[in-house]
Amino acid sequence: MAALAFAVVTFFSTAAGGLFALHQRRHLYLVMGAAAGLLLGAALFDLLPEAIELSRTVGVGVAAAAGFAVFYAVEHFVHLGAAEHQKEDAVRAFGSVAALGLTVHSFLDGLAIGSAFVADPRLGVVVGVAVVGHDFGDGVSTVGVVLGSRGALRASIGWLLADALAPVAGALLALQLHVPRSVLAYLLAFFAGSFLFLGGAHLLPEAARAGHKGRLAAVVVASLALAGAVTWVAGR
Ligand SMILES: [Zn+2]
Repeated sequence: MAALAFAVVTFFSTAAGGLFALHQRRHLYLVMGAAAGLLLGAALFDLLPEAIELSRTVGVGVAAAAGFAVFYAVEHFVHLGAAEHQKEDAVRAFGSVAALGLTVHSFLDGLAIGSAFVADPRLGVVVGVAVVGHDFGDGVSTVGVVLGSRGALRASIGWLLADALAPVAGALLALQLHVPRSVLAYLLAFFAGSFLFLGGAHLLPEAARAGHKGRLAAVVVASLALAGAVTWVAGR
């Protein structure tokens, strides 16, 4: 029950992040910068350390590299397959792939909450607080990747809803089935790698082309620090 309660709170924190991003969409490049900083921070301060703690093997690094490479390849082939006049569609298509990736990640957030509660209720609370904190960033990122890839407003709201509901589905599944620690570690690392790509190689260059570089840098550093602070507070 407690796991589900956390998953439901996660729904609201994700939705709040997305609504904040929608509200600020006139300054889209700054929303993209905030999303980039939150994604990089989640990967470096939260997902990777947790993956390493669950499985102290080189497999964690391999899974992270695979996450980076898969998203790199998808972006490359989406652009490669598009003729000159379809470039806009290609960018939009990649935005949907990125939003799908974030939604699958949020499903795993729910799975992590559920599995942690099954293993130990105290661990469940720690993981739950960490997920609720960083999923505000997931909401910002979901809207950021869709709008930043020239997607429609309606599409960004649809993906935000999917991303907010995904943790509830993940928590429900985890309460039914036992996920081995090593599998969870590799999944977390895979998404850390994909977050490094989405934040560092997809959103940041797009945002830098679109606006004031000094303001962008300030927002990126501030959101990186925010992601670090949330992880630090949740881990205490
Ligand atoms: Zn998340």
